[in-house]
Amino acid sequence: MAAPRPSSSRTPSSRLEGILADTDRIQELSDSDGEYEDMGTATQEEMANIAYLESVRIPIEDGLTTESSAVTEETLQAVLPFLESNPNDFPLNIFGLPQLQREKHINFLKHALGDYPRQFAMMDASRPWLLYWSLQGLTALGYDISEYRERVAHTFTLAQHPEGGYGGGYGQLPHLAATYAAVLSIVMVGGSEAYESINRKAMWRYLGQMKQPDGGFTMAPGGEEDIRGAFCALVVLSLLNIPIKLPPDAPARTHGLTSFLDNLGEWVSECQTYEGGISATPLNEAHGAYAFCGVGCLSIMGPPKEMLNKYLNMSTLIHWLSSRQCAPEGGYNGRTNKLVDGCYSHWVGGCWSIVEAATASTNICNRSALARYILSAAQAKKGGLIDKPGKKPDAYHSCYNLAGLSHAQHRYTYEAKVQEDLGGGDLDAPYYWKAQGDYDDEKVWGDTDIVNEVHPIFVIPFKAVHDCRRYFMEKEGF
Ligand SMILES: [Zn+2]
Repeated sequence: MAAPRPSSSRTPSSRLEGILADTDRIQELSDSDGEYEDMGTATQEEMANIAYLESVRIPIEDGLTTESSAVTEETLQAVLPFLESNPNDFPLNIFGLPQLQREKHINFLKHALGDYPRQFAMMDASRPWLLYWSLQGLTALGYDISEYRERVAHTFTLAQHPEGGYGGGYGQLPHLAATYAAVLSIVMVGGSEAYESINRKAMWRYLGQMKQPDGGFTMAPGGEEDIRGAFCALVVLSLLNIPIKLPPDAPARTHGLTSFLDNLGEWVSECQTYEGGISATPLNEAHGAYAFCGVGCLSIMGPPKEMLNKYLNMSTLIHWLSSRQCAPEGGYNGRTNKLVDGCYSHWVGGCWSIVEAATASTNICNRSALARYILSAAQAKKGGLIDKPGKKPDAYHSCYNLAGLSHAQHRYTYEAKVQEDLGGGDLDAPYYWKAQGDYDDEKVWGDTDIVNEVHPIFVIPFKAVHDCRRYFMEKEGF
């Protein structure tokens, strides 16, 4: 491998060079007679941002030009103007960064919950996801979603399969991804009518069909086995307080398994790759979203400190997660040699609170750089959040950029004690999390840029998590 290029070989963009040259010149003239003091082309905030960008221009290229390195460079050139300036003409916060365009994003997400033209019929199977992303995005922005309660309950009553689980809509076969999104949406709107619409006993039997002898879960009966299955199944089991013993007709019972947790930690462990990240299945490539599913799954099985240290190599995991943060963009990519993308603000960014809880450390990631990327480069001019400049906004990137911003702003800690009515049942580990104030040290956001707290494992509001858990803790059996 070629030696890294020296830092001086990376030149500032022409615009940045222009600003720097002008500013030096103005300083020179100002020093001489003061006559030009008001002529600065860069404000104090812009200068602070430029200084920051200079400090993070780390040459992490190996000097080999490939198709990937060319696209990476193209992406950097597309993102830089948004970090250095304000092409969308958004109002700036006190740190000189674009303010969170709350009202525009709310309107975008409310629109995403409306009717779709005929061409979107192919998206029908994704309806639970569209609901989850939009509703979660709205709650992160502080919008009261109770007006959607009846519609959500109605939609999912029709999408629930008589034999358990949820499909995209009426008459569709159930799938674990749709089931995960449906349950989170129902839990978010809350209320006994919505909770009672879930057939928990049928869900228990449905999940039993997915458990595999090697410990993992398929996404549908006879479907692919991957780490999404393990995470989605555990989220549903825990939130709905469903027993962890396998139903009598679960095929895995014929292989000697009796619990949903049998062989699961070992299976997740096999998904950790030589790079340190986590892949969809053993021997596959590590990926940001699968990493979140892996650490999330283990953190539902038990306390992160116990589970992650038992089943994962923490030092390689931390190395891999850190390597996902792009410099100078500040956002994350999902895999080695891939491009920065706003959705990994959550998939990778969301791993940090869990990893910090597991390693009793704090601030081992650069939260302000992540917030910079989201505020500067991931807000669409007309509302909604995006993958990267040049892309169109959608509910998915809106939800996960906002979750990433929440992770950058709020301190989530794993406490020794749990409230009495939340703990004590099966899979109670996720209920020990608390939101403990904000990260003020290196903040780059103003008060109006702060989004609501998001539960680090379930990625819905804490209150929704606690209300649901309490409701089902009071229920005995099905
Ligand atoms: Zn994305």
